[in-house]
Amino acid sequence: MLVILLGAPGAGKGTQAEMIVERYKLTHISTGDILRASIKKETELGKQAKDYLDKGELVPDEVVVKIVEERLKEPDCQAGALLDGFPRTVEQAKSLEEVLEGMQRKIDYVIYIEVTEDELISRLTGRRICRDCGATYHLKFNPPQVRNVCDQCGGELYQREDDSMETVKQRIKVYREQTEPLIEYYRRKSLLHAVDGDQDINKVHQQLQEVLDNNSRSEGV
Ligand code: ADP
Ligand code: AMP
Repeated sequence: MLVILLGAPGAGKGTQAEMIVERYKLTHISTGDILRASIKKETELGKQAKDYLDKGELVPDEVVVKIVEERLKEPDCQAGALLDGFPRTVEQAKSLEEVLEGMQRKIDYVIYIEVTEDELISRLTGRRICRDCGATYHLKFNPPQVRNVCDQCGGELYQREDDSMETVKQRIKVYREQTEPLIEYYRRKSLLHAVDGDQDINKVHQQLQEVLDNNSRSEGV
């Protein structure tokens, strides 16, 4: 099974991905996580990508397409994968189709998590991440039991640099201009399932489960 999570920065894609990959035996592929890991390790890819992330711009299509293509070919993705944060442009979506065709695979679901802009800003500016295991928290909406300490592994929590107010606004602008057209793109292909992301984490999770358990029709027909 191949699932795409679509939504603005802060919509809850990573949070929901963590919750569903286990149940559906999917491998979580987050292009943002892969790029941040490369920046931390100071690899060639990391050096290429850093400026774009710092500014809240998108990394060039060919760079991210190559990352995803290579990742999808790894053995742990054969049974199923969940793409989080990719594709982010129509060009990326088209390239993904070519890659999948070459692998004789196809997209099963595109789930669009819809969230209002004010909520996105509160979610992003209050987000905290574990330095060690990458688990996601929120100061108000999903706080850890002990301040600044990860519930899962005891690691220290930090704020992503691009979650500052200024960069958040730029990232949302980039999303509106370059990523939002994908909603219509996938709707036309009858692959899109929209869920209301302006609800608490468990309620959103329930809706995602309903889609993946095949109880809901795609919107596109
Ligand atoms: P994305 O991966 O789409 O950028 P995240 O999953 O990292 O978004 O979520 C952004 C922030 O919002 C995190 O701090 C997360 O804890 C919080 N969050 C996620 N889903 C919800 C929700 N349904 N209600 C409130 N806060 C949420
Ligand atoms: P995310 O972790 O999904 O919020 O992504 C963080 C940043 O990584 C984005 O602001 C972009 O700079 C970059 N990025 C992640 N995924 C992509 C993608 N599919 N295309 C281009 N840039 C990306």
